Amino acid sequence: MFGLNQNITTLKGVGEKTVTPFFEKNIHTIDELITMLPLSYIRYTAAEFIDGANMMINGIINSKVNSFSPRNNLLITNFTITDGKYTYKIVAWNMKHLKFAFKSGDSVCVLGKYDEKRNQITLKQINQIGTDEIDNENIVPAYSKVKAVSNLKINKLITTAIETSSLSSEHKQMLIELHNPSSFESLHLARERFKMIEFTNYYQKILALGQRTKQDINYAQTIDMSIINEFKNNLPYKLTASQDKAVGRGLEELQTDRPMQSLVEGDVGSGKTIVSIIYCLAVITNGGQVAFMLPTEILAKQVYAIIKQLLPTYESDLLVSSIKKNQKKLLKARLQTGSIKIVVGTHALIEGDVEFKNLRFVVIDEQHRFGVNQRDNLINKGSFVNFCYLSATPIPRTLAHTLYGVMDVIKIDSKPADRLPIETTVFSKNQKQAMVSKINDELALGHQVFIITPLAYEVEDLNLNDSLNTFESFKKYYDGKYKVGMINGQLKSAHKDKIMEMFRKKEYDVLVATTVIEVGVDIPGATTIAVLNAERFGLATLHQLRGRVGRNDLQSYCLLLDESNNIDSKKRLEFMEQIADGAQLAKLDYEMRGMGQVTGIRQSGNEDFILFNLFEDSKIAEQVIANLSMAQ
Ligand code: ADP
Ligand code: MG
Repeated sequence: MFGLNQNITTLKGVGEKTVTPFFEKNIHTIDELITMLPLSYIRYTAAEFIDGANMMINGIINSKVNSFSPRNNLLITNFTITDGKYTYKIVAWNMKHLKFAFKSGDSVCVLGKYDEKRNQITLKQINQIGTDEIDNENIVPAYSKVKAVSNLKINKLITTAIETSSLSSEHKQMLIELHNPSSFESLHLARERFKMIEFTNYYQKILALGQRTKQDINYAQTIDMSIINEFKNNLPYKLTASQDKAVGRGLEELQTDRPMQSLVEGDVGSGKTIVSIIYCLAVITNGGQVAFMLPTEILAKQVYAIIKQLLPTYESDLLVSSIKKNQKKLLKARLQTGSIKIVVGTHALIEGDVEFKNLRFVVIDEQHRFGVNQRDNLINKGSFVNFCYLSATPIPRTLAHTLYGVMDVIKIDSKPADRLPIETTVFSKNQKQAMVSKINDELALGHQVFIITPLAYEVEDLNLNDSLNTFESFKKYYDGKYKVGMINGQLKSAHKDKIMEMFRKKEYDVLVATTVIEVGVDIPGATTIAVLNAERFGLATLHQLRGRVGRNDLQSYCLLLDESNNIDSKKRLEFMEQIADGAQLAKLDYEMRGMGQVTGIRQSGNEDFILFNLFEDSKIAEQVIANLSMAQ
């Protein structure tokens, strides 16, 4: 990202023993080291327990100071204070002077008994203080685990690398802020700055690629509608009106001389897969080959199974990296001769030696998970290729056009009718038991449950749930009564698939997982998804997770455990209870950012980016594009 390609062994005072664990994590260069951003940050708050029950907080009054008298001899005064990130309710009994002595905006030090359930302090003492006394919070970075190297050591090494590098002072300052934030405000700014740099690099890459479609070629496909109609009539369900329309629009695109370059956009569960399979059918009946690319093996296998079932008369196969070498060789030969009509696969599809006889159509599902080069490499495997991307999260039309070369957006704006809305409930930390009983109720009905954690494995100092410990504790809790499985991104791909398959076959009742199951996984037997540390996830991500259930006609549930004790976070999560529309949630997510909320667990994503996320950061993207085009 900054072009610092020297090996980390060139750092002063760094020996083999130090670098080996970094090498194992695929961190070799200075650039890779300094952009290994913290997974999250631990905040030592200005609020401190001075003994088991009493808390002292330095903060600012951020509400009116209200007094009322519910009965004689009783005066209750209440207000809220914030320490910059959290807001606490303060209640005082019979303190007559408060209403006159304090007002909104005052800096104060309060002391009182803390009631965790209500996030409320019963006031014992309050003093005016100087504003400078408030900013005493301490933010410490937490990195993903590097074997036998402590957080502190990682941070020291990175800091040294930044300071001794040839970076501009501006970049140095930004990186130092990302690794050693002085406050959440400046961390936020540094993150935004970092994303801008990332996006600028990305956009320049896109500009360099230039025009991807060829001019004087006729891309038109002749479509036999009788085959399409027969296929539709034989489906186990009727397409929704919205799907039908999307099918129509796409087929129209395929029949024009210009290339189809469409983005099919529909919320999770809207049924994009079948729509794109119909496009595929249209192209193969016209003699062309089709490639369908997905970001993970789990998803590729899922789509392959559907295609095999729905299109048994056309030769199809699955190309993923885990298949045996010999088999892969044969498969590639069959692609080259054109005997395979539809190939479904992962990144393995874009390897150099994968060649097609006449690739005419490409579908890329969850397209934002692929880098620009990856998308292009696949499309360039044919001499003229129509394509469509599938996506659950909307980005502005102009951005889709600029970034993906998409010429039209095909929306699927409703879901199959037999779906009940997913019932979403936010539980606070002390209601965990209530959440577990809800899970137990569903298990007792023979339904399956996902339990999501933010981390795969424990991270030093970071008090967050990880899949391994959660798995072990639920296994112990159910003690054989229900079978518990675990899946996370750190497991080998073949192993992940096996676990998913077992869950699908109901060999597990409960699956503890990280966001590896975020996209597209379809387990019809699962009715419940419970998210631990829900406060750590963006609303858009939670919405994606929620889309893992509600895939049959049973009532499904999304249970969100807010383990933060933070009013803002509770408010944010409560939007999930009320709003079922992914686009609206993504927008809210954006608007509420910078409110001191660094949700911060980095979600796996696109190879082009470390922090930047197209859906959450489309405003940044638009700004960069505007700036660059003005500079030209
Ligand atoms: P997404 O748009 O999130 O990729 P999928 O294509 O995976 O959604 O579809 C979700 C589920 O809905 C699948 O199990 C699929 O078989 C089913 N489905 C799709 N279309 C319909 C329909 N018209 N009626 C009923 N079920 C449908
Ligand atoms: Mg999908």
